[in-house]
Amino acid sequence: MPSLDTAAIRSDFPVFERLIGGKQIHFLDSGASSQKPSQVLDAMTEFAAHHYANVHRGAYTLSLEATTEFERCRSSVARFIGATSPNEVVLTRGATTALNQIAFGWGGEHLRAGDKILLTTFEHHANLIPWQMVARRTGAQLDFVPFNEDYQFDIDVFEAKLDTDVKVVAVTGMSNVLGTLPPLRQIVEQSHSVGAIVVVDGAQLVPHLGVDVTDLGADFVAVSAHKMLGPTGIGFLWGRMDRLEEMEPFEGGGEMIADVTLESATWAQIPHRFEAGTPAIIESVGLTAAIEYLEALGMDAVAAHDAELTAYALGRLADVPDLTVYGPSDLSKRGGVISFTLGDAHPHDLATILDSEGVSVRAGHHCAKPLVRALGVPATARASFYVYNTTDDVDALLDGLSVAADIFSPSRVV
Ligand code: PLP
Repeated sequence: MPSLDTAAIRSDFPVFERLIGGKQIHFLDSGASSQKPSQVLDAMTEFAAHHYANVHRGAYTLSLEATTEFERCRSSVARFIGATSPNEVVLTRGATTALNQIAFGWGGEHLRAGDKILLTTFEHHANLIPWQMVARRTGAQLDFVPFNEDYQFDIDVFEAKLDTDVKVVAVTGMSNVLGTLPPLRQIVEQSHSVGAIVVVDGAQLVPHLGVDVTDLGADFVAVSAHKMLGPTGIGFLWGRMDRLEEMEPFEGGGEMIADVTLESATWAQIPHRFEAGTPAIIESVGLTAAIEYLEALGMDAVAAHDAELTAYALGRLADVPDLTVYGPSDLSKRGGVISFTLGDAHPHDLATILDSEGVSVRAGHHCAKPLVRALGVPATARASFYVYNTTDDVDALLDGLSVAADIFSPSRVV
């Protein structure tokens, strides 16, 4: 029995009414950004048309309504991720901004020369570059946990590297290239035992498997809305309240102050001190609608659907000659992101051929250049799944790969 009613779900997504080149769209790039259901699009349009004004500074009806909706987004996020209070939720521009806030706002304040920041070799640049920048400023050192022979987080190396010099462990919740799911609970427990904080890049994890931040016990989690059916331009940073209290604002400006003189300023309460400037107000309404949509499906069903499609796709891909998949073979250690190469075909050429067959996949380094370099390839093609995908999409991918294999075949006469 399917875990999700994909026919009903697909009818909520206007994009699937479109044909490209006369073909139905098989969208397999939700890892980069997901499609948006009418519920999200309509909620934003209705709000922008009839309730819009700037938030937090108006005594008039529209501003009060907008403020209520904006704060409803914060409460929705808190509920969705199991935060103990909406005040632990900072609304940001996305996961990248959230990770920069943590790196500069917490790391910039607390890291010193000789301290270590432990990352993995398979981080998205969003959870690598900010730490490189902060390391340069503070004198802290970067160290890395690699993946093992099955593309899993190498727990033995992690344990060997974890000592009291490690002050930050910043790790992806799910690799956007390999699909790898590091053992977060164990990482949190062991990191805390040496006094290190744990930052989870939840950009891929949270939209697909959800999270209970209180149960997980990490210190910070960063997420983007646009990968979870919501709009671009908004995301969130969850922080445990004591960690948020240790964090300095990364940006200054309007909205984030308690008082200001020409020489200095004091900060507003948490979380507002971390939200300088006019926030993504219309987008916050879209994020609320996206959360409500996912909650109605149920995150257990969303995760089960991803797992079913991933198992089906890996099973079929295993029969394709010359195809290499980069990611854990143990299905319990991976999510619905599948990176692959086909013989010597350049992944960009592959993606172009697949597009002509109606199949949208991403090709490139996926903002994880050190990882792709470690895989020993210039790039990979990547298929990723979400709630609207079906086995038909996987079958279309396989058909497209067979067309591509034929085109790239050395025996083909041109
Ligand atoms: N982290 C991971 C694992 C990602 O896949 C992405 C986006 O692809 C990001 C961080 C950055 O997210 P955004 O570009 O929405 O800030």
